[in-house]
Amino acid sequence: MQFGVLRENKTEPPFSSPLDQLSIAGTYSCAGCSLPLYSSTTKYDSGTGWPSFYAPLDNAIATSIDHSLFMVRTEVHCRRCGGHLGHVFDDGPPPTGKRYCMNGVALAFTAA
Ligand SMILES: [Zn+2]
Repeated sequence: MQFGVLRENKTEPPFSSPLDQLSIAGTYSCAGCSLPLYSSTTKYDSGTGWPSFYAPLDNAIATSIDHSLFMVRTEVHCRRCGGHLGHVFDDGPPPTGKRYCMNGVALAFTAA
């Protein structure tokens, strides 16, 4: 599953990741190359079943347009290794209004 998400742009089933409900302080890094991607301070419960953040760390991610599934979505991938992480949507909370919807298997959590 981890390989499928990172390298083949697959999506894990919702509510399958233990990271979804995790709320302790720490850093979420790329499971492919260990680059720090998100801080727990920007994590929130979006109710979608995937770990969600309203902002990434500086220089952590890159985005591209994904036309699969007959939708136009903005794909989020790791800036360093290019691993697919998830998508970003415009229905997130303040202050950014963004929802970074991540696959838990693409992330590795390190407690602060
Ligand atoms: Zn990476």
